Amino acid sequence: MELAIRTAMSALGARLLEGLLATDPGHRGPRVDCGAGHQASFVAYRGKQIDTVLGPVRLRRAWYHCSDCQAGNAPRDEQLGVAGASLSPGLRTMTARAGAAVPFAQAAGLLAELAGVSLTTKRVERAAEADGITAAAASSAQAKAILTGRVTPLPPPAPTPDMLYLAVDGTGVPMRASETIGRAGKYEDGRARTREVKLAALFTQTRLDADGRPIRDPDSTSYLATLDPVETFADLLQAEARRRGAEHIRQLVVLGDGARWIWNLADARFPAATQIVDLYHAREHLHALADHLAFITPDPDTWLTDRLTDLDNGDIEAIMHAARSYPLVGVKATECDKDLAYFETNAHRMRYAHYHKLGMFIGSGVVEAGCKAVIGQRLKLSGMRWTTRGATGITTLRCQHASSARANIGAA
Ligand SMILES: [Zn+2]
Repeated sequence: MELAIRTAMSALGARLLEGLLATDPGHRGPRVDCGAGHQASFVAYRGKQIDTVLGPVRLRRAWYHCSDCQAGNAPRDEQLGVAGASLSPGLRTMTARAGAAVPFAQAAGLLAELAGVSLTTKRVERAAEADGITAAAASSAQAKAILTGRVTPLPPPAPTPDMLYLAVDGTGVPMRASETIGRAGKYEDGRARTREVKLAALFTQTRLDADGRPIRDPDSTSYLATLDPVETFADLLQAEARRRGAEHIRQLVVLGDGARWIWNLADARFPAATQIVDLYHAREHLHALADHLAFITPDPDTWLTDRLTDLDNGDIEAIMHAARSYPLVGVKATECDKDLAYFETNAHRMRYAHYHKLGMFIGSGVVEAGCKAVIGQRLKLSGMRWTTRGATGITTLRCQHASSARANIGAA
């Protein structure tokens, strides 16, 4: 009974909406600006069907034609936000929410079941991706405005957090073959099957728990991601850091695995930030080093335990020294050098005891969880193949939905 009533109410609502829309038939005089510098002439009133939250609605509005452009338009459509679209703004928002959360076919099913709106899978896909692309364009416009100083973000609300963390990571998203032509990859035909999404999680921290471990401030995490090159990602990250109050917060920390591009970015864009290599990645590298040396160390397990203690102490020199005390030649020497290079380049990013004393996070778990939850659980499901446009759109929407720190967007 409740569903029957809701269906009837929606139908009633659709007629009501039609009536409201009809109060302005969109006649703006005999001529209007065509948008390209010409005058378009009134032709006639034409009908258009729009799918709305309440179901299909008929719209009648004045239609103009520009003889220079050989194209027509309806000023009323522009005003209503339905120019070139067959979904209303309200339904588009719903569709984008559903299409970003679950695969498009499931999203269409949910819209039908929960909202009583029936759309084909293809329309859900097109609408969600288009909204995501619009959101991505808006984000990059906002970033540009912040970076050029046209917009100044408000300082973070008091009390000002003590530290702002920028946790950065990359993850591969499977692409359609047509999207990766000419891109180098790791497969036999040399073509990439995936493209890297670069993801950042920004969060603040002020307090420590009873055991002296840092606590992420509640609702303080925002995400951003892009498939674009690192320079574009760096712009977005720098703008987001400013929006989050980087210029007011005492301490900036960049967290990442060992990937070189992350540290190049940190050096160039956040020279004052403390750089920290994720402790768990460092431990993995230490396990690999211990494996490579196991044939020569008298007691491999003890050796590894001792080195893990060195690592916790941030004593990278002790690790280097312990590893180099064995004379190696050939393949073994090369393997060992490769492992050690990681520690050598990142030594100043592994002062874990020091960071612990300062009450800092030493793991990039937040962004790695983000890679799984924000990207993986929607974009890397089995059998999925994305276009750049689709992946960009859905990634952008998911970052926005996952971000709890959306306040402070207002600008002074
Ligand atoms: Zn024109």
